[in-house]
Amino acid sequence: MRKEAKVVIIGGGAMGAGLVYFLAHEGWTDTVLIEKGELSSGSTWHAAGLVPHFIGSLNMAKCHATAPDLYAKIEEETGLSGGWHQTGAIRLAITDDQVDWFHYVQGMLKLVGVESELIPPERILDFWPFMDISDVKIGFHTPNDGWADPSSATAAMVKGARQLGCEINRHTLVTETNKLTDGRWEVVTDKGTIVCDHLVNAAGCYAPQVGAMAGIEVPIVSVIHQYLITEPMQELIDLGYDPPIVRDPRVSSYYRREIDGLLVGPYETANAQTYGLDGIEWDKHFYLTPPDLDQIMPHLVDAGERIPPFQESGIKKVISGPITHTPDSGYLMGPVPGHNNYWMCAGASIGVTQGPGAGKYLAQWIVHGQTEINVAEMDPRRFGDHAGPNGRYAYDKAIDEYHEMYQTRLPGEQRFAGRPQKTSPIYDRLDARGAQWEEVFGWERPQYYSLDGQPEQHSFRRSNAFDVVGSECRGTRERAGIADLTAFAKFEVTGADAGAFLERLAANRMPVKDGGMRLTHMLTSLGGIESEMTITRLAADRFYLNSGITMQFHDRDWLVHHIADGEDVTVSDVTEKNAILAVSGPRSRDILSTLTDVDLTSESFRWLTGQEIVVAGVHCIALRVSYVGELGWELHHPIDQMAKLYDALVAAGEPHGMVHYGSYAMNTMRIEKAYKAMGSELTTEITPVEADLGRFVDYSTDFIGREATQAREALGDDVEMTLVFCEVDAADNDCRGNEPVYAGDELVGLTTSGAFGHSVGKSLAFAYVGPRHRAPGTSLEITLLGDRRRASVLDGAAYDPANEKPRS
Ligand SMILES: Cc1cc2nc3c(=O)[nH]c(=O)nc-3n(C[C@H](O)[C@H](O)[C@H](O)COP(=O)(O)OP(=O)(O)OC[C@H]3O[C@@H](n4cnc5c(N)ncnc54)[C@H](O)[C@@H]3O)c2cc1C
Repeated sequence: MRKEAKVVIIGGGAMGAGLVYFLAHEGWTDTVLIEKGELSSGSTWHAAGLVPHFIGSLNMAKCHATAPDLYAKIEEETGLSGGWHQTGAIRLAITDDQVDWFHYVQGMLKLVGVESELIPPERILDFWPFMDISDVKIGFHTPNDGWADPSSATAAMVKGARQLGCEINRHTLVTETNKLTDGRWEVVTDKGTIVCDHLVNAAGCYAPQVGAMAGIEVPIVSVIHQYLITEPMQELIDLGYDPPIVRDPRVSSYYRREIDGLLVGPYETANAQTYGLDGIEWDKHFYLTPPDLDQIMPHLVDAGERIPPFQESGIKKVISGPITHTPDSGYLMGPVPGHNNYWMCAGASIGVTQGPGAGKYLAQWIVHGQTEINVAEMDPRRFGDHAGPNGRYAYDKAIDEYHEMYQTRLPGEQRFAGRPQKTSPIYDRLDARGAQWEEVFGWERPQYYSLDGQPEQHSFRRSNAFDVVGSECRGTRERAGIADLTAFAKFEVTGADAGAFLERLAANRMPVKDGGMRLTHMLTSLGGIESEMTITRLAADRFYLNSGITMQFHDRDWLVHHIADGEDVTVSDVTEKNAILAVSGPRSRDILSTLTDVDLTSESFRWLTGQEIVVAGVHCIALRVSYVGELGWELHHPIDQMAKLYDALVAAGEPHGMVHYGSYAMNTMRIEKAYKAMGSELTTEITPVEADLGRFVDYSTDFIGREATQAREALGDDVEMTLVFCEVDAADNDCRGNEPVYAGDELVGLTTSGAFGHSVGKSLAFAYVGPRHRAPGTSLEITLLGDRRRASVLDGAAYDPANEKPRS
């Protein structure tokens, strides 16, 4: 074994193999993969090998699409077959919500270039003449789907890396990983020690144990999954072909032909069994868990109703093994929070599908510092510290996600397993007002306040929350609204070099006076938008930073990792210490004035400034800023004082008709104002140039990403895409993001977010389109749940385009 390498990957399953393959193709051949057994001897070898294109997320769809392409052609490159069988696949819709979802996903897959067709039930009989389709509304047919032989595909990917120069060490057990003082990692194995710049944990079910070697808590829980193969089935033999794989939400199962038998794989919708919670012995290879047909019997009975010949078939083989699940069933791909150059590539629940894509994008990230897709939903930093594997959260969530594998998650729908984790001190008060809760980064946050005590009837179309959200928006805009914004990330950056440090990271100029505030973006060296923050200067050596809560660990690491040697800078994460109450709307000044002696007029307290003031006896950092585009203040205060401040604000707001508003109304109002959001309009895939953030970029300072951004700007109209804001002629559903945008028949872009603007009576959306379509008034079309709807480009915010309200 080499003594040193650029990258060491621990684990030779589908995920580790995908990564070593793509690192090698990025030119990083000084990479060593270490596997304690044979390649694919963990979870990979016993997988059913199914590779679906269908997935409800644009970026995950891009990831999935990598596998069929690679598996089909890898033999040309390596001489080893990926065992690819292109059978196609059909997913069944048995409810109207699923039909809506299929239309949405079909639009999204068009953006990825994945071929698909929505077929009537009768067409399913063309493929599966003996299937019961009595409850099927439509089928989602992806002709280029199929299944791979997992061990062959893994071996082929590894060979592709080895023949370019990567080193593969099988039968080598990693026993320790130690961070060295020079920032590199020492990997101790039973065959020797190797030092590397980058360490990747691709250890599958062992990932928590491997993580623990470096003191890292990995939120992965392994859940046992079974599939069975029948004796030869005459009806299948008579077909004379391999029919498309079928995914069936009624039975929560998949079916495919395996030689002459039927393969049936049910995901239990209750009582799923976990595996190895207390640790798995290191010497287990090619292991299976004992078959337990009782566990899946209800699904097998249902499967017999879907495919009647199955009722008469004998069972030839049952495969039972563990699958890794994370709290949201997405894999962990990217940096581990709080550690430099320790990467995760594990936690895939369909790793044969996801290994190549995860490997491709993680290789880009490691090599270039940035990926070509938005990887937020894969980034390990998307989970907070509440998600450690030893707490209930990861356990309850992972099991719930397993149960839900074949169910349809509707927009805004919440799962309550493992919750609540973090509540603000006014949770009970807001709950009593009808708050409908969502979880974000472990925090409970109101979506809206139900007036009749009824929960939301979730739908892809406008739900029963629609009118209530409208009244929250109008109440805020016409009078005032209060919101609990505690679930935001908050940092203090202090020290003699704090200003210069932030200037180096931020694309916007830092405030030069105490109390000054800037909205700014931090960029990668390639210009990609890595983070968006509001920065307030409290003193020359003390800055207060706020960003979205899901970015807490990400932004903290970004700040900490950029402190240069010898720089006098301290980053303190005060997210848990501070609560935030926002009071917005034309009456907000009147309301706050009754609770503070401070002069709140614009002369004394200007828009986009902050002051440390006392409100209702509570010391607050008051920021005159409003994410909903109104006159308003955010009051950041010690969390243990929150109830006192809230009660005082509610009492002061009552005579003014102050309403409570939740995240739905907040999103609607920010869209009315054409405020862009991190994660939807703003991602690492694009620079401030495409995102039309020119006024927040100041080239007079030398910030990270400056050259790349300037170069992009120099492209002018040759830039690939640009952000536009549109009015949409919607019917009963609004844009959510990732809908295709057309000019005539030409696909010219995609939406990023949208909502019905209650204050302006218009359905609104952001979209990235080619620059020739950006002129105000340009006519476009957007596919909304299968319907083409007209859209026209606006020349500014739909609400208060002159921006007079926040300054008033
Ligand atoms: C019954 C069943 C059916 C499935 N069907 C499908 C399917 O149809 N489609 C699909 O996409 N997915 C399917 N899966 C899921 C799929 O198998 C997994 O998601 C995938 O194999 C995970 O790959 P991995 O590389 O993360 O993990 P693994 O394959 O487990 O690889 C991790 C490797 O790390 C090694 N390792 C661990 N610790 C160390 C150490 N300390 N030192 C050295 N090496 C170490 C292990 O030996 C192991 O080989 C199925 C799973 C099961 C159980």
